[in-house]
Amino acid sequence: FKDALAQGRGRFFGIGTNTGIPGLYFASAIHDGDTAIGAAAVKVSVDALESAWRTPGEAAIVVDSNGVIVISTQPEWKFTAMRAMTEPQQRDIQASRQYAGRIVEALQYRRVGDRNDSAWIGIFPDLRRAGRTARLLVMSRPAPQGQDTIMVLLDTAGARRQQRLAFAFVTGVFLIAALYALYAVQRRRVIVEKLKAQEALRRANDQLETTVAQRTAALTQANAQMQREIAERERTEQRLRATQQEVVHAGKLAVIGQMAAGLTHELNQPLVAIRTLCDNARTFFERNQGAQAIANLERVGRLVDSMAVLTSELKAFARKPEVERVAVSLGEAVAHARLIYESRIRDEAVRLDVRIAPGTTVYAESSQLQQVIVNLLGNALDAVRDASTRVIAIEASEPDAQGRVRFTLEDSGPGIAPDVLAHLFEPFVTTKPRGQGLGLGLAITSRIVEGFGAKITATNRDEGGARFTIEFAAAEPQRTEHGR
Ligand code: ADP
Repeated sequence: FKDALAQGRGRFFGIGTNTGIPGLYFASAIHDGDTAIGAAAVKVSVDALESAWRTPGEAAIVVDSNGVIVISTQPEWKFTAMRAMTEPQQRDIQASRQYAGRIVEALQYRRVGDRNDSAWIGIFPDLRRAGRTARLLVMSRPAPQGQDTIMVLLDTAGARRQQRLAFAFVTGVFLIAALYALYAVQRRRVIVEKLKAQEALRRANDQLETTVAQRTAALTQANAQMQREIAERERTEQRLRATQQEVVHAGKLAVIGQMAAGLTHELNQPLVAIRTLCDNARTFFERNQGAQAIANLERVGRLVDSMAVLTSELKAFARKPEVERVAVSLGEAVAHARLIYESRIRDEAVRLDVRIAPGTTVYAESSQLQQVIVNLLGNALDAVRDASTRVIAIEASEPDAQGRVRFTLEDSGPGIAPDVLAHLFEPFVTTKPRGQGLGLGLAITSRIVEGFGAKITATNRDEGGARFTIEFAAAEPQRTEHGR
């Protein structure tokens, strides 16, 4: 009213003192000519406005010149102050009864961040949930007339959520992009590696093929060379075998030659005796002494028998060796050899000790076994000839569990010369004067012994003299060869 009278128009927000209803009062002066004679006032309720403005998550307020919220879509904010109020201000407001004598409380909020007057952010009581606070964007404009300010407050939670969402989305997209980039880089690297590996493999393959081809060629060559060598070896072996057979036979003939001398001597004695006995028998007949004549003839018969034994030995020795090996009596083989050298043993006063259990058999071939023992005994007789004691010992062990027999022939001679010992079983190794030894005896002997599946060794005895040992393989007891 005062403003209308003074300025022609007035506007005021207030709470009706009678009704207690808040409203906007508009006043206009009434003139009579130039003189203002009164004023007309209209009060407009703001309720409709408030409800029209109400939107969820938003607040709209009008702050008057006192800084007091007079229109608000948040009912509880109404008639609270946005500015701190001094004591006199409070008093004036109460006196004017503008707000129906209410004490104006301060709205609990605080500005944050940018302090731009037209747009700022503040922490306010939450628009939806009582007792909590929310971050609100405040946009303010001065009202078209007067000193009021219109403010719109927006909850930033949604925007922040959106921001977070957008951030998360962008981050996600970025991460996916980064992962994809990483994947692409990795994939590229893998492809490059794969290509490199393929290339390396191809090169290695080529290299391998070349190497294989080279090796194959070398192998083929080596193989052909080997085939040639094998063929050559086989030919050599055949030649060797043939030669060996010849050597055995030659050796045998050499022994026979030696034996012939002994035999001549051996046969000569009975021949002389037979001659004498025959002459005497004739005389006895002439004297009609028939009984004596018959006795003489009987003695002739016995002598002829023993001579036949000797010659049959020679025949048995000279005959072709039988390939089949059987259990041969060792004692009989030694007895044959002894018989061959009987005259030498006797004449040279050699003591021959034979200790072989009767029935001892070895796995051999009869005539070859005789040849072996004849060779060894002949060598032993040669060795002891000039010795002070002339002893030859022949022994055979009991067969062991497998039926193997160990045969030894020892002599009291000078022993085997050390340089000969290493090559003893090689052909043409001899220390005997020319014409007496060919150096084939032991070579033949060892070959024959090998043929028996046996083994011959030679050593010098500690007491002096040589020792020859033959380890015979197990005999097969079911097949025994007796006699010659
Ligand atoms: P040879 O009797 O024709 O010389 P051997 O092969 O039978 O051929 O013997 C070779 C050599 O081995 C003999 O010359 C001899 O030196 C030596 N030897 C063989 N047996 C004996 C032995 N019992 N004592 C000493 N030396 C031996």
